[in-house]
Amino acid sequence: MSSLATDMNQGNGQSVPLTRDGESLLFPALPYDMHDRADRAVLDEQRLRFVNHATLLKDNARKKLAKEVFGDEHGEWRTLAGRIKQHTLENLDYYLNRFIDNAEAAGAVVHFAKDAEEANSICLEIVEKEKLKTCVKAKSMVTEETHLVPALEEAGVETLETDLGEFILQLDGDAPSHIVTPMIHKDRVAVAKAFERELGAAYTEDPGTLTQIAREYLREKYQKADLGISGGNFMVAETGSVVICTNEGNGRFCTTAPRVHVAFVGIEKIVPGLNELSVMLKLLARTSTAQPLTCYTHLMTGPKREKEHDGPEQMHIILIDNGRTKILADEEFREALRCIRCGACLNSCPVYRKVSGHSYGAVYSGPIGAVITPLFKGLENYKDLPGASSLCGACYEACPVKINLPELLIKLRRDMLAGKVTKRGERLAYKVFSMGLKSEGMYRMTSWVQKKLLRAMADNQGFIRKAPGPFKNWTRDRDLPAPAKESFRDWWRKRERYR
Ligand code: SF4
Repeated sequence: MSSLATDMNQGNGQSVPLTRDGESLLFPALPYDMHDRADRAVLDEQRLRFVNHATLLKDNARKKLAKEVFGDEHGEWRTLAGRIKQHTLENLDYYLNRFIDNAEAAGAVVHFAKDAEEANSICLEIVEKEKLKTCVKAKSMVTEETHLVPALEEAGVETLETDLGEFILQLDGDAPSHIVTPMIHKDRVAVAKAFERELGAAYTEDPGTLTQIAREYLREKYQKADLGISGGNFMVAETGSVVICTNEGNGRFCTTAPRVHVAFVGIEKIVPGLNELSVMLKLLARTSTAQPLTCYTHLMTGPKREKEHDGPEQMHIILIDNGRTKILADEEFREALRCIRCGACLNSCPVYRKVSGHSYGAVYSGPIGAVITPLFKGLENYKDLPGASSLCGACYEACPVKINLPELLIKLRRDMLAGKVTKRGERLAYKVFSMGLKSEGMYRMTSWVQKKLLRAMADNQGFIRKAPGPFKNWTRDRDLPAPAKESFRDWWRKRERYR
């Protein structure tokens, strides 16, 4: 759904690279250690400014629109949307079968892929059988999951991303860092340089002119392409339709101009019928980009019919599992599959705003990424992600389908402790901490000792400038204020005494 906004970031076109030695941004070696990239991201003043500015802007616009449109009923709409998705997930086999029957009746060919590799192989078989050579592709996070573009290119299919943000990232050999605004970490100078270098365009930083350059370049490619790839924001069981929501019209071009259309869709994207779809569309656009509706909402039901002029001759839908049924089988985490990838939890998250998307080392970042990446790829491979949250609850408040992200993150932390994924020293610290919290006497004593120690470390301005040992990172980029001389408990006791 991304677009090149006229208020896009202005910098010097260069961000500090977060990876070392050609490491992949979204598919790093496992187990993944988040600290290295996060440390570099927080020191990159320009990246911080871009991400902070754009996410705050979007978060405020979302809140304003929610108040204007939903008023006091916003909570009820979120509850309704959450219930629709939860109900569909609880009955996923029924709705998927219904979807398959109706999609096939409309002339689509439906495939099922258990993992990323199988999804790509199905697509490559279609490519080979139909002798396809050129592909235009709409934005799709699930194709990032399957790593589709490199697979197509390796098979000799010239593949072009057509979402403006993704197109720029492709020219720069970069990767998306936000679910909805993939190039949130870049600025107009970087775009100008990429267009000049890769497309031979005259240098300009004007967003309108840059958009026009991309539009003219892409228009010709749509006309030549014989394969169109899209994702799917939703699938409608009642009609067998795949729905995509875009703001640039590129999705419509990709799925109608080429001879063959292949839609990659996660199995959790299903909704029962058109009534339920209308609830989801209302919430998706308003939460994601603060629009009443996206500029284009495209429902595709089968390929073109006899006597129809437009549309593909073939429509293939690849339903992708890739770890989803494992999450579905777990009652505690099932609700994570309600996600409609609106990106609002990323925009509201104070941690995402500071470390930005590539620090998460995976396709999905922010609070939802911190939950689903360890579930997809193993807690032992992404053990920093459940801790990449202050648990402030802003993501839960923002989520249009009411996924209780902070609670899911706490459950992951619990599982890490139980599965001994957490380091030994940290486990010991938690044990001591929980003992301290269980007894009032112990709590008082440890608080008193802690206060004395921290105050002894502070300088005469009341700040600890250098924390010792394992806590040294706390004071690397900021000063830590020492605890007040009088604790809240002492103050409260005194207040009670003199009342
Ligand atoms: S978890 Fe909720 S807020 Fe985050 S992307 Fe998914 S639907 Fe949006």
